[in-house]
Order: sequence, then structure tokens, then C-alpha cells
Amino acid sequence: MRISNFIGGEFVAPKSGAYFPDINPATAQPIADVPDSDAADVDAAVAAAKNAFPVWSRTTAEERSRILLRLADLIEQNLDDLARIESRDNGKPLSLARALDIPRAVANFRFFATAILHHASAAHITDTTALNYTLRQPLGVAGLISPWNLPLYLLSWKIAPAIASGNTCVAKPSELTPLTADRLAQLSLEAGVPAGVMNIVHGYGAKAGAALVEHRDVPMISFTGGTVTGARVAASAAPMFKKLSLELGGKNPTVVFADADLNDAIRTSLRSAFWNQGEICLCGSRVFVERSIYDQFVDAFTEGAKKLKIGDPSDESTQVGALISEAHLHKVLGYIELAKEEGGTIVAGGSRVDRDGYFVEPTVITGLGCDRRVLQEEIFGPVVTITPFDHEEEAVAFANSTRYGLSASLWTRDLKRAHRVAAAIDSGTVWINCWLLRDLRVPFGGAKDSGVGREGGFESLEFFTEAKNVCVKLG
Ligand code: NDP
Repeated sequence: MRISNFIGGEFVAPKSGAYFPDINPATAQPIADVPDSDAADVDAAVAAAKNAFPVWSRTTAEERSRILLRLADLIEQNLDDLARIESRDNGKPLSLARALDIPRAVANFRFFATAILHHASAAHITDTTALNYTLRQPLGVAGLISPWNLPLYLLSWKIAPAIASGNTCVAKPSELTPLTADRLAQLSLEAGVPAGVMNIVHGYGAKAGAALVEHRDVPMISFTGGTVTGARVAASAAPMFKKLSLELGGKNPTVVFADADLNDAIRTSLRSAFWNQGEICLCGSRVFVERSIYDQFVDAFTEGAKKLKIGDPSDESTQVGALISEAHLHKVLGYIELAKEEGGTIVAGGSRVDRDGYFVEPTVITGLGCDRRVLQEEIFGPVVTITPFDHEEEAVAFANSTRYGLSASLWTRDLKRAHRVAAAIDSGTVWINCWLLRDLRVPFGGAKDSGVGREGGFESLEFFTEAKNVCVKLG
């Protein structure tokens, strides 16, 4: 199978004619040829998007909404097909793609398709002198760059608000997981998205992605990916004064106080540690447990981790699939070795699974302090540490002890403490007695090195439009 770029409503080969293989992580076998696009392809996509902008930006919100709702319906009608593609491309369990990735992509398109019908802008009367109103206008071509861990979900998180608010876009999905983006392009034609409104250029980040970030005719970049790449993107975009949103890495704490509902805390923190093989930016990879329940928690958590079923992602009963790539597999295994060197104890897992593909056992590590590299650096795999704490202040200090600040999950029945600790943790999201619950109206993003800017809900509509003040003299 060979996929193409999607430019100006047509599927086209990369100008250079070069392709690279897309590997199924569960078998280590190639499953598709992917365009190795370069600046020339990005140029063509940006030109198509620029060309489509004047008409699309003047299309009524009602019509844009109708088209995006049709696209959401089509994704939903093809849910099973898309989930199978995503699972094969990414290595994640089919059941997870079906329950999480694809339904959330549908929800993203539905939310932004309807949000534009209700988005209001402000007006201010300056005494009797003037009327000021805020005009929110789309900016032009949005450059959208997304990672491989939740491929369609995160792509739709950007495409939906960008085009709903009247921009056109060029998206560059991760080179490791291009297949659902290709299917989305086909569905967009069926839904009636006009040619040039949504363009998809496949290829490597350092070549196609960088060309998109550097393009003069792309005034805004929405990027989700690693913190190191995010810094590179920011460095290229800043001198051109582009609007920039960066959703970056995390090293998220799960904090469990002794008064928590322990069964619920253990069940949910197992999910938050190992769902999608730990390859969700919001996964809780550092668990902190109040000392009085520490042994009990470690025993139950470890037992739960050992019971998780690893295997063929297409098997309905599989709970842990394959890591995204061989390079990532070695990175994760490297951190498990580092944990041992740093003095940690592996109480569950710790090894590569003996089968084709890139599988690592759910791994639980104890005995490491917060200053260890294993607790400081994002591993982005099925590896979690558990550390005891003695009091609330220490729990907050431990939670805040990294450069990241994406999310946190906190477990207690004490309402006052829950609010106090939530306010004290430096992160963009804090879940209390839950994890990964989502309301699309809330702002989403990271603190510290986890990102700049907020997306989600009306925040995304504001990111993808520019506010202009119009001042009218009265009298
Ligand atoms: P990367 O930063 O490696 O890549 C992200 C995207 O950027 C990919 O499409 C990549 O292309 C592209 N890219 C790479 N280099 C450049 C460049 N110089 N210029 C422009 N684009 C470039 O991240 P991963 O794909 O490895 O994703 C995992 C990371 O994403 C983790 O750190 C995770 O925490 C983070 N993440 C953050 C989320 C959040 O909401 N905060 C959500 C999900 C993930 P290519 O794949 O070809 O290299």
C-alpha cells in the first residue's frame, strides 16, 4: 500500500518521488509507503490552502458547521475501520482505539462544528463617547503538527478548530503513524470539505515539519510533541512572530493520600500508568503514596500490573500493545536499566516481551528518590515509579519536582485538602479522584516545560482567530 499527500483536494505523490516505509510496531513489518515530502510539497500545500482561504473564510459559520458535522458522522460510521487502521499503525490495542481515539476524534469535530455557532465576542461602550467591539477573524493558513501517540485524536484536535473558525490548514502528522490521517483526507472529500481547506503533507519532522514551521505564508503553528522538538519549533517561529501553541511532554504525578478510596485509586492509576503502553502525554508515571498505605498500595498495584494482558493489539482481550518503534523500545529499556543503576528495585515487569514487535512488560519501580533521572525525564512508556511521602507538603514538593507541568491526578476524600493541593500543584490540569475525564469546554495545556498557550474549547477558537478592536465614535 502506498499513501499520498492530500493537496488541493487531490491525492498527489511527493515531488521528489521518495517514500519511506511505515512499520507495524506489533510485527516490525512494513505496511505502507509514506511520502518523504520536502519543502516543495509544503509549498504546494500552503499555496492550495492560501488559495482556498478567501472563499472558506467567508463561508457562513452555519455552512462550515454543517460540513464538519458531516465529517464527524462519517468518522463515526467508519469507527471500526479507523480503529483497526490506528491499532495497526500505532501498536495500540484495538479496543482502546475503538473506545478512546476514534470517538474522541468524532467529539472534536462535533464540538468545534457547533462551538462556532455559539461563540460571542465582546463589545464595550466607552461612556457616551465610543463603542468598541472585538472582531475575531481567521488568520489564513494554519500549520498543524501532531505526534504519533494519539494520531487521529490529536490531529482532529487541531484541524477541527482551525477550519471551523474559517482558516485553511496544512497538517503534518507524525511520520510514524500517517494512516488514519490519509483516511481522514478521503472522508473529508465525502463530507464536502472544499478543495484546499484541509491539506495533509506526510514526511519527516525535520524536513517537512520544519519547512511548514518556517513557511512565510503560515502565520500560526499549533504543535503537539516532545519538549525538545517544541523548543526547536519555537526558535524557528519566533523571529517570524507567528502565533504559536505548544503542547509538550509530561512527567505527571499521581498522588494518593491514605484516606483515598484505595480500590478506585489503584484501578485508575493502573490505567493512567499503562494505557496506550504509557504513551499518553497525560499518563501518571510517578506515583506518590502516603507512607501508612504504601506497602498495601505497592502490593496491589504490582499485582494489577502483572495481570495486564500484553499481546497482539488486534486481539480484543489485549490490554497492553506494542511500543511505537524499535528506537523507542530501546529508549524505554534504557530507562529500565538506568533505574537499576540508580538503585531502584523492579517489582514488576522490566523486560522486553519475547515475540516479534516492540513489546515491553508493564514495569513498576520502587526505591528511587525524586532527584533520580528516571523520575525527572519523560520515558513515555509502560514504566512507573512508586515513592512514599510523609505529609501533604512533601507530596506537593514531590509532585512539583520536575521541569514538566502537564497534568496530575490526586486521590483523597478530604475535600479541603483536595482543593488546596490542586491549587499548589504546578500543572495545566489536575484530576481529583479520577483521570482523563474530559470536557471540551475547558482550557487544556501545560505549565513549565510542558507547553505554552491553551487549546480546547473556546480557547482554541481564540487561538485560531485574531482579535481586532473596532472603535466607533458615538455622536
Ligand atoms: P516529536 O516531538 O518527536 O514529534 C512531534 C511532531 O513534530 C511529529 O509530527 C514530528 O515529525 C514533528 N517534528 C519533529 N521535528 C520537527 C521539526 N524540527 N520541526 C517541525 N516538526 C517537527 O514527538 P513524538 O511524535 O515523539 O510524540 C511524543 C511526545 O509528544 C511526548 O513528549 C509527549 O508527551 C508529547 N505529547 C504531548 C501532548 C500534549 O497534549 N501536551 C499530547 C501527546 C503527546 P516526525 O514524527 O516525522 O519526527
